[in-house]
Amino acid sequence: RRRKMVERVTTLMSQPEQIRNIGIVAHIDHGKTTLSDNLLAGAGMISEEIAGKACWMDSDEEEQARGITIDSSNVSMVHEYGGKEYLINMIDTPGHVDFGGDVTRAMRAVDGAVVLVDAVEGTMPQTETVLRQALKEGVRPVLFINKVDRLINELLVDEVEMQIRLGKVIDKVNRLIKGMNEEAYKSGWKLDAAEGTVAFGSALYNWAISIPYMKTSGVSFKDVYDCCKAGDMKTLAKSSPLCEVVLDMVVNHLPDPLVAQKRRVPIIWQHGDPSTTEGQAMLHCDPKGPACLMVTDISFDPHAGEVATGRLFSGTLKRGNELYVMGTAKNVNRLTQVAIFMGAERIEVESLNAGNIVAVTGLKDGMVGSTVSTMMEMQTFESLKHYSEPVMTVAVEAKNMKDLPKLVTVLRQVGKEDPTVLVKIDEETGEHLISGMGELHLEIITHRIHRDKGVEIVTTPPIVVYRETITGSIGPIEGKSPNRHNRFYLEFEPLSEEIVKKLKDGDIIMDVPAMERRDALLEAGFDKDEAKNLTAIQGTNMFFDMTKGIQNLNETMELVLEAWREALAGGPLANEQVQNTKIRLVDVKLHEDAIHRGPAQVIPAVRGAVKGGILMAGVSLLEPMQILQITVPQDHMGAATAQIQGRRGQVFDMKSEGDTITVIGKAPVAELFGFAGDVRSATEGRAMWSTEFAGFETVPAGMLKDVVKEIRKRKGLKEQIPEPADYLS
Ligand code: GDP
Repeated sequence: RRRKMVERVTTLMSQPEQIRNIGIVAHIDHGKTTLSDNLLAGAGMISEEIAGKACWMDSDEEEQARGITIDSSNVSMVHEYGGKEYLINMIDTPGHVDFGGDVTRAMRAVDGAVVLVDAVEGTMPQTETVLRQALKEGVRPVLFINKVDRLINELLVDEVEMQIRLGKVIDKVNRLIKGMNEEAYKSGWKLDAAEGTVAFGSALYNWAISIPYMKTSGVSFKDVYDCCKAGDMKTLAKSSPLCEVVLDMVVNHLPDPLVAQKRRVPIIWQHGDPSTTEGQAMLHCDPKGPACLMVTDISFDPHAGEVATGRLFSGTLKRGNELYVMGTAKNVNRLTQVAIFMGAERIEVESLNAGNIVAVTGLKDGMVGSTVSTMMEMQTFESLKHYSEPVMTVAVEAKNMKDLPKLVTVLRQVGKEDPTVLVKIDEETGEHLISGMGELHLEIITHRIHRDKGVEIVTTPPIVVYRETITGSIGPIEGKSPNRHNRFYLEFEPLSEEIVKKLKDGDIIMDVPAMERRDALLEAGFDKDEAKNLTAIQGTNMFFDMTKGIQNLNETMELVLEAWREALAGGPLANEQVQNTKIRLVDVKLHEDAIHRGPAQVIPAVRGAVKGGILMAGVSLLEPMQILQITVPQDHMGAATAQIQGRRGQVFDMKSEGDTITVIGKAPVAELFGFAGDVRSATEGRAMWSTEFAGFETVPAGMLKDVVKEIRKRKGLKEQIPEPADYLS
């Protein structure tokens, strides 16, 4: 039976009209895992008894224990509709905002998204976040409204009220789509129950209904209501099975790769030229063209080694193929296995075709986000944008000294597997630092290092990641080399919010032809001279070389940039990353003799000028913030509000719905340690809550000195905040 299934899947893989690449996106607890499991069971990929008990997609024991989905894994299933078979490649996306980065990369691999919304709760902030990510990637949404049984059996709404409530959810999601991408909304992406782009039902009880399905099956709205009211879920699951209704909607309304790639390639390969061979191949999802693959996930398998999963936009892949990873030294990466997924199982196949989500081994230079091709050179795909940033760090140490080399390898793997994790070594202390998106995220990572990778580690309690930035302009500041023969003159200016956004969105990048970069800068409001002279970007910092005709500067520039990057990696205030600065090199004096302008001279001169200049321009410390959303029964509102306000937070919205109320606010990450436990006990365990990254904000002036002191002490720096003269003498 299994062999049969593999055969069906491999046949369908080469028929793009019969393929749908989809993801389910939702706010945590709205029922995504339940829906995924029941779809798989319904499609005959796992037994129905297992579905609902063991969480199939939560293949990780960790995830099952915590009841949340962490990794994006994928599955393929076959669905029959209108006498034809379809291959549904489904990527699982995490339901917890601490892992927002994963949703972005999952959206890169798919063409359609089933947006799942709890009928009782309605849309939540995270519904908005994931919908926005889908639309940004050119991914088309359909809507599934879940937990309709609760409307009927818990909130006791009548049939009319039920329709009104469902209509409200649809209207809300439509308003979101329209607000986020009006063009897509007008081009037919507006959700419409009559057309069948909306379905509703109960993932838990395995039934669903849509208007087209009512028409063909003869099941009426009233039948559904009555059955559900009578608690007869079995009959409903027979007359309108979840899998049937939802996958019919997917097949009918979400685009196949042929249609989708025409729309998506210009979005996700914005800087590419559509008239090139690879451009044409991707636009037409051509299996005969050059292979173009974007890696969206890396995992480690004890037998196969590193497994790269991604979307194959064109070409065909076979074992033994030679591929190149863009942005690396262009070594040949020879594929050792090509495979597809069935459930959590990876199954080796003969070949992989354009338009599918595929898995390969042997891609040793590949990372999450890599552009991979059979061609040595191609324009890379748009980089994956993460809306969250690492805001907390732990230091880890091997329990046994002999494990140190293994720990170093494992940490490199961790960085590759999860692009939202930052792994680095502290230059001063030699400590290994892991930064992640929250307390829970870090807990899971460190736990896995121990369990999956077999390295026993000791971790410090998590600490908050801060940032430094400048508040004013200054310059030119002179940086002198130790031998006094080399001098660098730098000007400093804060970057505006609009420019920072453009950098984050990838609207201004180095990796494009010079002309294109210049146009982007002019459009962003830089003057002609600057538009010509952008030399480097680091995070949200820009460096411009405004000098003209200085002898030997060209060969010295790499050192200048190295020093600039070093200074930005640890600012003068607290050795935290610097952000949002614009630095212009306006004049340089270099010693004639190359021996006297080597790294030992240039690096300290420029690094000192950057750090000293930051202090003189006015430096401020920024702390990460988080949006908090707590849903509680009405009578616990006070406790929920107090949990936010008591943490230097502010409440800015409250929404009541039936007998619950949702309190929405914002608080600094530094105050959120132990939040989960405190909320639980303050509300007798009745609260549901979520957090979301809300950017960095200035640490209040009254606290600045203490916070800086604390950080410096922790890092073993001298407590006294440096003066400009410390860097510029
Ligand atoms: P996820 O966090 O989005 O993956 O949500 P889960 O699938 O883990 O579901 C969260 C909770 O909602 C679980 O307790 C489920 O049993 C429950 N649930 C899921 N779907 C339904 C439904 O249709 N009706 C009801 N009453 N509960 C549901």
